[in-house]
Amino acid sequence: MAELIDGKALAARMREQMTEQVQQLQQQGVTPGLAVVLVGDDPASRVYVSMKEKACAATGIFSDEHKLAADTSEEELLQLVEQLNKDERIDGILVQLPLPDHINEERILHAISPLKDVDGFHPFSVGALVTGSPTFRSCTPYGVMKMLESIDYDLNGKEVVVVGRSNIVGKPVAMMCLAENATVTICHSRTADLPAHVGRADVVIAAVGQPEMIKGEWIKPGAVVIDVGINRVGDKKLVGDVEFAAAAERASYITPVPGGVGPMTITMLLFNTIYSASQRLQQ
Ligand code: NDP
Repeated sequence: MAELIDGKALAARMREQMTEQVQQLQQQGVTPGLAVVLVGDDPASRVYVSMKEKACAATGIFSDEHKLAADTSEEELLQLVEQLNKDERIDGILVQLPLPDHINEERILHAISPLKDVDGFHPFSVGALVTGSPTFRSCTPYGVMKMLESIDYDLNGKEVVVVGRSNIVGKPVAMMCLAENATVTICHSRTADLPAHVGRADVVIAAVGQPEMIKGEWIKPGAVVIDVGINRVGDKKLVGDVEFAAAAERASYITPVPGGVGPMTITMLLFNTIYSASQRLQQ
């Protein structure tokens, strides 16, 4: 049976350390600040934003909340981003996605200063990751890397198969594994023979968004399985992209859903914000 990589416990340990780091920064006159911008009243986004605010408060990070009406114009939002770019109390800017349809998401994300891009979605941050001099790494993939680090997993020379090629998970996590000298394959909906790719992986990273689509019998015995997927089935139950019970019989390590990658995402947002604040001391 596989050992669990407990994201909840790892996130709690990291947040404890980060609380101490924030106190040390405060002693040097710097309080890390995160601006969180929410446009409209999408219920899921409201929950995420309130989780982020609570996490900031618990860690000692100043959180500057901007809750805007659903009919806020693109120009108004751009002006707010510009104002936050200049605000010296703010080290990180997070614009909660998705934005309402009348706002061009790309235009907004590109307006965020790369120096405050704690979500790591700006093309500057993505380019820096690809060219091997990362600035801010996007939070979910960075969380995956911290989970591998937590089991002292050495990616050097290992076969990593990433299923999913989104800009927020699949592509950046593939780049992060490549930077650690893994041999990386990225699979997607047009991949021929997905089971064969998954079957030779030392590490499988699933970021698809389809309940239990990666079958346990595909997993190579002893592989590490990281399940990023969060899928609601029925009324309440959450499952990942991997058929957990069957995969756990073959894998050496596996992440649960919930309680796996999920709690790491906000943790890495705090991590990036603290990192950004620490850069103020270097100036
Ligand atoms: P996207 O929908 O943006 O991307 C899904 C990817 O899966 C696409 O690249 C798609 O391929 C690929 N795909 C779809 N069907 C198949 C298939 N049958 N075989 C192989 N590949 C397939 O999703 P995200 O990356 O945003 O999210 C993925 C999952 O991770 C979701 O469940 C989401 O909820 C979860 N998530 C969790 C987070 C967390 O833990 N905090 C954060 C972000 C996401 P193609 O490109 O060809 O369409």
